[in-house]
Amino acid sequence: MHKNIAVIPGDGIGPEIIRQALLVLSAVAEKFGHSFTFTEVDMGGCAIDKWGEPLPDAMLEKCLASDSVLLGAVGGEKWNSVPGHLRPEKGLLKLRAGMGVYSNNRPAKIWPQLASASPLKASIVAQGIDFIIVRELIGGIYFGKRKTETVAGEMVAVDELTYTESEIERIGRIGFETARKRNKKLCSVEKSNVLDSSRLWKKVMHRLAEEYPDVALSDMLVDNCAMQIVKNPAQFDVIVTENMFGDILSDEASMITGSIGMIPSSSLGHSTCGLYEPIHGSAPDIAGRDIANPIGTVLSAAMMLRYSFNLEKEAEAIEQAVSKVLDRGFRTADIMPQEQDEAEGCQLVGCSLMGEKIIEALRED
Ligand code: NAD
Repeated sequence: MHKNIAVIPGDGIGPEIIRQALLVLSAVAEKFGHSFTFTEVDMGGCAIDKWGEPLPDAMLEKCLASDSVLLGAVGGEKWNSVPGHLRPEKGLLKLRAGMGVYSNNRPAKIWPQLASASPLKASIVAQGIDFIIVRELIGGIYFGKRKTETVAGEMVAVDELTYTESEIERIGRIGFETARKRNKKLCSVEKSNVLDSSRLWKKVMHRLAEEYPDVALSDMLVDNCAMQIVKNPAQFDVIVTENMFGDILSDEASMITGSIGMIPSSSLGHSTCGLYEPIHGSAPDIAGRDIANPIGTVLSAAMMLRYSFNLEKEAEAIEQAVSKVLDRGFRTADIMPQEQDEAEGCQLVGCSLMGEKIIEALRED
């Protein structure tokens, strides 16, 4: 298989973590007989410095012409005072809108080797945490009409929450397809005891379920879901939900797994060309010191192989290599246990050595 991947290193630790992810992808290509072409794209603060804007049209075109996009992170203190429309984050919004990615997928997975980093009780963590939240990204209350006005002498603010059947259906399909590639359990989260938009959501999900008889669909109210994520996270495989509920639940879910440096994400739209990135930012406080954790980016590359290129075996190979490296005790600073007894058998490594160890493990057997 040959694929053209647009690569956006971005700012801060972006270039360091992307470098490791590309080395891992090249090792996968070599091992499984594929070829990947990497096309570098300027976005964020570096693009402001070079081109005067965070994502020039020509750069967006490069992304749209690719088979998929891998992003490090953008932003930093240096660009905090530029006018709003020129902020590095505007590049990200332009990219998401330009690619039409309406589905954000964020896994919540606890690596058993890092279990002590979870704020949950050991007995809950021991049951395993490995689920994915599929969040609708470009509809709902964040994109509805809004107004603030004075009525009868007091301020009134209104935010409209609208969903059309087709918007629900397209995100629902991503939920079902994602569950199909995992343990075939999909939990649809809404607030159908109160909201009309949620009642429509539920109806569309059940209509879609007839097309996916191999996936077990269940419904859960969002308030219950927030409790279940901390009480019994092992029950979940895939959660599909609307924009605002997903925003809140996915942050809750990433917290229970420990370190921000470990978590990948994907954003997908109608085409298989997706946007893959770690959930963290550009971490300017540790940039340029070769101490960042590249695993969130490496796992984002694995998601790209699985969801955009349908290369399941190759994605699993990366995930197993990461697992082996953790088994062997290699830890970047963010995942190094603080307590001396827990740190026993662990070895502190930097960003590039972590990448090397992952590649070494990938090349075994
Ligand atoms: P951040 O995620 O960059 O950093 C938060 C903390 O986590 C810092 O202490 C950092 O050192 C640590 N951290 C983050 N990633 C790490 C990694 N891979 N390994 C080890 N430690 C890691 O969030 P922030 O400090 O609030 O934001 C910094 C900049 O990033 C800002 O300009 C912000 O706008 C931008 N940002 C960009 C994105 C993106 O590109 N998608 C997302 C969030 C924030």
